[in-house]
Amino acid sequence: MLTISDRFSLLKMDWLTKAGQSLLPPGHWAGPSQSEVLVDGDNKTLYLTFDDGPFPETTETLLEILEREEVLATFFLIGEHVSRYPELAERVSRGGHAIGSHSNKHFLLPALSANALEKDLRSANAAIEDATGQTPKLFRPPYGIIDNRSAQCLKDLEMEIVYWGSVPEDWQAVGTNRVVERVSSSMQNGKLIVLHEGKHIAEQTILATQEIIARAKKRGFKFGIISPSASL
Ligand SMILES: [Zn+2]
Repeated sequence: MLTISDRFSLLKMDWLTKAGQSLLPPGHWAGPSQSEVLVDGDNKTLYLTFDDGPFPETTETLLEILEREEVLATFFLIGEHVSRYPELAERVSRGGHAIGSHSNKHFLLPALSANALEKDLRSANAAIEDATGQTPKLFRPPYGIIDNRSAQCLKDLEMEIVYWGSVPEDWQAVGTNRVVERVSSSMQNGKLIVLHEGKHIAEQTILATQEIIARAKKRGFKFGIISPSASL
C-alpha cells in the first residue's frame, strides 16, 4: 500500500524525470518512457539497475542474490569506486551483468569545464576497462542532469544516455517497505527501476532488491539487461 508520502515522492520524481527529459538535447532521449525501445516483443520485462557502486557493503551481496534468483541487472558504476574496488567491478562483469558508467566522481556535469568534463568521463571509462576489460557504452548522468555539451561529449565517446522509469528515492534511508511499495506501484512492462548502492542504505538496498524480485516474479515479470541501441 502506498502512503501519502509515497504518492508525493512518486509525483515529485515523475515531474523531475519529465523536467530532465525536456532539458535533454534532442536525439539523446529514447522516448517518453524509454521503455518502448527496450520492449523486445516479449512482454512483462523489467530492467533492474543499480547506481553509485561498487561498494563492499552492497555489491557482493547483491550479486549473490541476483545469481540465486537467476536475474541479470545493469550496474552504473562510479569510476573512483571502481578504482578503489576493482575486484568488485570484475565480479559484476563476470556475473554477466551489464555495466555502464555513472561518471568518475559523481560531479554535476554541467558545472564542469569542458576539459574537466572530458577527463572525468574518460577516467571513468579507463577505470572500468582496467577492472573488467570492457568499455562502457551506457551512461547514467549523476543526479540525472545533463546538458548539450555533456551529451555531445558522450556521443563522441560513443556512449548512450540511460534514464529511468521507476525511481523510489532510495538514496535516502526511507525504509525497505517504502522502496518496495514505490517500485511495486510502477511495475509495468519495460520499466527501468533505479536502486542505489551505498554504505548508509546497504541493508535497505539488499532487502528491497530481494523483495522487488520476489514480487515481480509473482506477478509474472522477468528481468532483462540494458544493451546499447543498434545504432551505436
Ligand atoms: Zn548517482
